[in-house]
Amino acid sequence: MKIFTMTKTVTRNLVTGPATLMYPQRERVFTAITRGMIENDIDRCIFCGMCARRCPTYAIVVAKDNKAWQIDRLKCCICNLCVEVCPVKCLSTENHYAQSVTTREMAIHKESQTISAAPGPDQTQT
Ligand code: SF4
Ligand code: SF4
Repeated sequence: MKIFTMTKTVTRNLVTGPATLMYPQRERVFTAITRGMIENDIDRCIFCGMCARRCPTYAIVVAKDNKAWQIDRLKCCICNLCVEVCPVKCLSTENHYAQSVTTREMAIHKESQTISAAPGPDQTQT
């Protein structure tokens, strides 16, 4: 009978308490294997574009000329494919989530390497 099933569920919930957390008073503890968000150790990136080509949701954009890399966190489904194909293993899946955003633009995370200027005539070594 459904009434007994419901009573069992209600009783269990009364004993165990709510499944939700009182955030931010209580911080969620993530497990080591939680797929939270993709990060790039940009100084190791060689801007090969493999991650962008492999991404099924087109979340990553790589600009080799500008040494720039960006990810749209609202498009990313944390499938981990970019992490797997990166030849220098500079991508990683962090086990915590990105900050909440209120606009789509805020979800676009940009990274870039400093492009060192070519030495000028007065900087050339002799
Ligand atoms: S695959 Fe790795 S090295 Fe290549 S552009 Fe992406 S993050 Fe950079
Ligand atoms: S985890 Fe998947 S969806 Fe997210 S950026 Fe990497 S390849 Fe794209």
